[in-house]
Amino acid sequence: MREWIRDVQDFPKQGIVFKDIFPLLQNHFTDVVDALAHKIAKPSEIDFIAGIDSRGFIFAAALAYKLQKGFIPIRKKGKLAPPTLTEHVLLEYGIAEIEMAERLPSQKKDKILIVDDILATGGTIESAWNLSLRCGFLPQQVLVLIDLKSLHRDRNLTFPVTSLLDYD
Ligand code: AMP
Repeated sequence: MREWIRDVQDFPKQGIVFKDIFPLLQNHFTDVVDALAHKIAKPSEIDFIAGIDSRGFIFAAALAYKLQKGFIPIRKKGKLAPPTLTEHVLLEYGIAEIEMAERLPSQKKDKILIVDDILATGGTIESAWNLSLRCGFLPQQVLVLIDLKSLHRDRNLTFPVTSLLDYD
């Protein structure tokens, strides 16, 4: 699969090596989704699959369909109708805010799998994990297509992550 992932130097900023996953998706999308599905630790124990805006949606929605689970979006600020909660994210190239729909305190604490395309510094997923807890969910596992391990080597990740492709 690696040969279908394109490294783009200095995009979107100087010094960033951007991983372009779209050639892989164009040619092997079904294989990628199937391989990701096999990486889910205990699918029967997961109630919903949460995807992170925007490339995480591609995989989360396909996995939700394959595993016959519901899909939940974790979106960039200002896109979801209220009531939502917000969390700041420190990115490899900038600062952002993400939002998720808040549950009623009376609702059951459903177990979710959090899905994104790439784990880089880990900032986005850490924020998504914390946000989902604040919103009344029980995050179980994080699943990504690519783990850029060298970008979070000095950081203690506070969530269990599984990836399809690792880069050192
Ligand atoms: P981070 O919060 O640093 O782990 O960054 C995660 C998010 O930023 C992911 O959703 C990716 O879509 C995007 N991202 C970060 N670094 C890269 C990269 N080198 N190539 C492509 N996308 C990236």
